[in-house]
Amino acid sequence: MKVVILGAGVIGVTTAWFLNRKGLDVTVIDRQSGSALETSKANAGQISYGYSAPWAAPGIPFKAAKWLMQTHAPLAIMPSLKTEQWQWMSQMLRECTKSRYNRNKSRMLRLANYSKRSLAELKAETGIEYEGRQKGLLQIFRTEQQVKAAEKDTTALTDAGTHYALLDREGCIAREPALSPVSGKLVGGLYLPGDETGDCHLFTQNLARLCEAHGVTFSYGEDVQEIVCKHGKFDSIQTSFSRYKADYCVVAMGSFSRNMVKPLGISLPTYPVKGYSLTMALDNPDAAPQSTVMDETNKIALTRFNNRLRIAGTAELNGFDMSLSSTRRETIARVVRDLFPDAGNIDKADFWCGLRPMTPDGTPIIGETIPGLFLNTGHGTLGWTMACGSGKLVSDLVTGSKPDIEAGDFNLSRYLS
Ligand SMILES: Cc1cc2nc3c(=O)[nH]c(=O)nc-3n(C[C@H](O)[C@H](O)[C@H](O)COP(=O)(O)OP(=O)(O)OC[C@H]3O[C@@H](n4cnc5c(N)ncnc54)[C@H](O)[C@@H]3O)c2cc1C
Repeated sequence: MKVVILGAGVIGVTTAWFLNRKGLDVTVIDRQSGSALETSKANAGQISYGYSAPWAAPGIPFKAAKWLMQTHAPLAIMPSLKTEQWQWMSQMLRECTKSRYNRNKSRMLRLANYSKRSLAELKAETGIEYEGRQKGLLQIFRTEQQVKAAEKDTTALTDAGTHYALLDREGCIAREPALSPVSGKLVGGLYLPGDETGDCHLFTQNLARLCEAHGVTFSYGEDVQEIVCKHGKFDSIQTSFSRYKADYCVVAMGSFSRNMVKPLGISLPTYPVKGYSLTMALDNPDAAPQSTVMDETNKIALTRFNNRLRIAGTAELNGFDMSLSSTRRETIARVVRDLFPDAGNIDKADFWCGLRPMTPDGTPIIGETIPGLFLNTGHGTLGWTMACGSGKLVSDLVTGSKPDIEAGDFNLSRYLS
């Protein structure tokens, strides 16, 4: 059986791996010259199972209104006349009730925990290298209010069997000693020992190599132009060069999935939420964190790779714009100067942006639509975290095997009711 996968980001490549392991003849098509050259390139590097939660949460509309008045805030909206932006924001606002937040979070935790198991199996089988660390995630709080909010939010973690510890200031320093010189800025923290870190770009490129060694074909530099369906089912793919006939197709084009499936009458509720990162060489590794430190006030993550620090965050609603904003650069840089001032020279860091394919409820869209046409997209803020679980799940759905986890509510149909 032949399957064609559209997109060689972390989602497309993990899907290719698991479908290949099921014995399918897999071809991956991407417009770039290699894998993980768009949103999967320089994300925050958190593989944050325990931190998996939707952005749409109670209290967010109020916080968002406040952020929009500040220059260095986690959120910026460039108002657009296009309906997609307003539609998406109003759908997201609807998801901000307590009951919807709890439902969405527990669904995300289910997939995240499955991803944890799936990545562990993949690592055990392949020994793949990606500067991975298993040292947990520390979310730091600068106000008592943040500590109280975190205490209230631990029910879903307990229900999902996710280990966590609420720490005082000393506990935070014990976890991340490089925070010691700025300890006065901290009130407490939430530590998630099961969370991991790693370079998503390196992982995806190395997994693509392993896929090729196992017989997967990668067609790079090819622009997908049309998904052709005939007689109510998937037929083939038209690219800038040729037509690919296959039995199945998996759409894993990140933020670009929406426009690709639109002519088929499939309405994906995703919006490209732009984020930025800086990657800094470490001059003084002891002055840098050991794992991910998540600054709750600024919503900026700082993740340690071997000899580099990746600092990432901000959400900008600005369509498909890919320009690099100097204001956003400063928003991120000032957090490094504030927390880890001696780790390296932030002015020399590499600056990058990417478009998170975000659904209003934070959960990706995984499942079949038109017979033979599968979606694996909309992973938003957590595509690296959820990639292995999503890829494995799709491989079960395509081959008609019973998935290891409940999968019905990942389908697009949840937006049709
Ligand atoms: C600042 C930032 C920080 C983040 N931090 C984290 C984090 O710490 N942890 C985490 O889990 N997630 C994080 N994410 C989210 C994560 O990076 C994404 O969810 C993930 O990369 C999405 O992967 P993807 O494969 O769906 O999309 P992409 O990586 O964008 O892949 C889609 C592919 O489709 C291809 N494509 C698109 N259109 C066409 C076409 N017409 N023809 C051919 N090819 C096409 C593109 O070239 C691309 O390679 C972050 C994102 C950002 C922006």
